[in-house]
Amino acid sequence: MLHGIRNLIYYYSLLTLTLEGAHNMAFELPNLPYSHDALADNGMSKETLEYHHDLHHNAYVTNGNAAIAGTEWENKSLEEIIVGTYDINAVAQNGIFNNISQLWNHNQFWEMMGPGNSSMPSELENSLIENFGSIDDFKTKFCAAGAGQFGSGWCWLVSDKDGSLKITKTENGVNPICFGQKTLLGCDVWEHSYYIDFRNKRPVYLTNFLDNLVNWENVASRM
Ligand code: FE
Repeated sequence: MLHGIRNLIYYYSLLTLTLEGAHNMAFELPNLPYSHDALADNGMSKETLEYHHDLHHNAYVTNGNAAIAGTEWENKSLEEIIVGTYDINAVAQNGIFNNISQLWNHNQFWEMMGPGNSSMPSELENSLIENFGSIDDFKTKFCAAGAGQFGSGWCWLVSDKDGSLKITKTENGVNPICFGQKTLLGCDVWEHSYYIDFRNKRPVYLTNFLDNLVNWENVASRM
């Protein structure tokens, strides 16, 4: 009887270890780098972060893990999966790409914001002026890209292959990795990112993002 129980405990611990091992292979939802209410005074409410991080971002993690399970992508990095599954000729991207790219996009997005009203490091400031004429011109162009993205997507500040800075916009989960560009800043313009705080006013959300939410030290660290 005792022997039977010992065997049971042994096999149960093996099963638990196996499940934990499998779990460690899967992607996980990263914690926000600040508390859920940390950005509220800067225009991104606790409720938005509860929905956007805890539910929307988490769904990309769950669905992304389910989509890659048992495929050639199972043990690859997010970046490898994004490059390997993006189809430049497709009208709509596949489920693996959509979920994994959105997982990566949101991982970056939280890091690019902060509660501190950060000042812009001079290297980044000089680069923006050199590439866009002035900081105001950069902000105007960035907001225009975000406002001009029809439907869901993102607008970006990227460093292109030749080292020049560019502002781009992409649909749905498509991101700069797909085009071999380095991501310096990205803004989520899916409705779930602004509807609670700004309702339908995407341009106001974008202006507020640049003026009050961006962590410019993080942006500069990506150059
Ligand atoms: Fe989002």
